[in-house]
Amino acid sequence: MPVISGDEYKKRIDRMHAEIWLDGSPIQGRISEHPAFRGAIKSQGELYDLQLKHKDVMTYTSDKTGNAVGASFLIPRTKEDLEKRRQMVQVWARHTGGLMGRSPDYMNTAITAYAASSTVIKGEMNSYPERLTAFYEMARERDLSFTHAFVSPQYNRSSLAILEDDCTNARIIDTTEEGIIMHGAKLLATQGGMTDELFVLSAPGKISHEEAYAFSIPSNTKGLKFIARQSLVGDDSAFNSPLSSRFEEMDSVVVFDHVLVPWERVFIHENIKAVDDLYNKGKFVPLTLHQICSRQAVKTELLLGIAQSMVESIEIGEYQHVQSKVSEIITGLETQKALLLSAEATGKVDEDGVFLPNRQLLYVAIHQFQNLYPRYTEIVQLLGASGMITIPTVKDFNSSIAPELDTYLQSKKHTGREKVALYRLAWDLTMSSFGTRQTLYERFFFGDPIRVSQIMYQQYDKSDATAFVQSFLEK
Ligand SMILES: Cc1cc2nc3c(=O)[nH]c(=O)nc-3n(C[C@H](O)[C@H](O)[C@H](O)COP(=O)(O)OP(=O)(O)OC[C@H]3O[C@@H](n4cnc5c(N)ncnc54)[C@H](O)[C@@H]3O)c2cc1C
Repeated sequence: MPVISGDEYKKRIDRMHAEIWLDGSPIQGRISEHPAFRGAIKSQGELYDLQLKHKDVMTYTSDKTGNAVGASFLIPRTKEDLEKRRQMVQVWARHTGGLMGRSPDYMNTAITAYAASSTVIKGEMNSYPERLTAFYEMARERDLSFTHAFVSPQYNRSSLAILEDDCTNARIIDTTEEGIIMHGAKLLATQGGMTDELFVLSAPGKISHEEAYAFSIPSNTKGLKFIARQSLVGDDSAFNSPLSSRFEEMDSVVVFDHVLVPWERVFIHENIKAVDDLYNKGKFVPLTLHQICSRQAVKTELLLGIAQSMVESIEIGEYQHVQSKVSEIITGLETQKALLLSAEATGKVDEDGVFLPNRQLLYVAIHQFQNLYPRYTEIVQLLGASGMITIPTVKDFNSSIAPELDTYLQSKKHTGREKVALYRLAWDLTMSSFGTRQTLYERFFFGDPIRVSQIMYQQYDKSDATAFVQSFLEK
């Protein structure tokens, strides 16, 4: 089956009827029509349609079936393959302004990376690399969509947590002839319930054997619940809520109530080393970081465009501090793009014949973005000032006070309505509940920034630098 259309995606998700709880009750009827989900599902559908529209960039030919399958499933063998992957990610990111962190390319890349890393768990106890590759092929040929939940609930994060009895984290409570039985909870499935599948892998860390697993199950599996947070959709109006009406992805706690995961869907069970190796030693980190940084570059461009449009709207470009603030975003954007290209240029073919980008450079890029993104939003607020709240709604502009709004809210460059549309975009990105969730999201994308910097420190080869100092001292 070749890549699917947006309509097919929508029908599949509606048929699925996953159990999603929102505000005290389970969602009934079609999820694609529910106010909390319909905007994001429509946008995601448009992404699938883009695959059909730009087949040259967005697809490649499956060596198994000869079908045109999604380029987000492409295992890169050459630098050109990796470049193609970046172009694919950025076609999708341009459509959403990079605001859907879980557009299908994110998890498709993760599944692809795990399958391409299956040799890492070959021969390991309770590990089934052949199931992982078969699953990847099935997902690629059916163009399945995924959410994921890797993190344990925030019960006890102390270094001695392993010694305590934690009744929250999902664990294997039984193994039967049919599969493993899962019970407990997992964080934090963005798009939970609006994808075909839920992929679960224990995040590396202090866990017991029962908490070490990797598997994937359909979102409507019996006993599986998605407990959604409050919706952040402002309203349906593209004028009032230009971003939340289209890209509110929703996040949910995942609860497993004695869920049976059939053996063919279990990739690892009760093996801490195998789950750690699949995450750390496999190709997940470099390939997903490449996807993330490609999207984030597009999002930075959106932020730069918004900041500069506001500067031009009220003509504040002559002030030195304004130039300096916009230059901060320019520096971030160009550094991001340079790190991405340089990670591709210094990439290498690994022992499995996969062309991987330079992981160190991508770690620098993501870590920098985690820290810079909140500053970008601050810059937008500082440049916007009162403009960020003098933003009447579409109803105001359609009422008898419209002439006054057009007179008193106009700027040197824009009519009142045009100026408010621009500043509403800035507000929805940086100040609305949708916008502040975006900031939290980018801060914690790919993990806690503190621990990302620890990983960078631990993995970076510092020996050349210390040898350099030694040679200086010996002169
Ligand atoms: C909007 C949003 C969407 C998300 N979507 C997904 C998703 O789709 N799928 C998914 O699997 N996950 C998702 N996540 C989870 C994300 O991966 C985690 O938030 C991230 O890994 C941090 O873990 P935590 O939230 O449990 O924070 P915690 O680990 O509980 O950290 C809380 C605080 O304690 C500190 N801390 C805790 N432990 C340590 C330590 N060992 N050393 C130093 N400091 C420590 C942290 O620095 C932080 O300040 C999402 C998160 C957000 C905010």
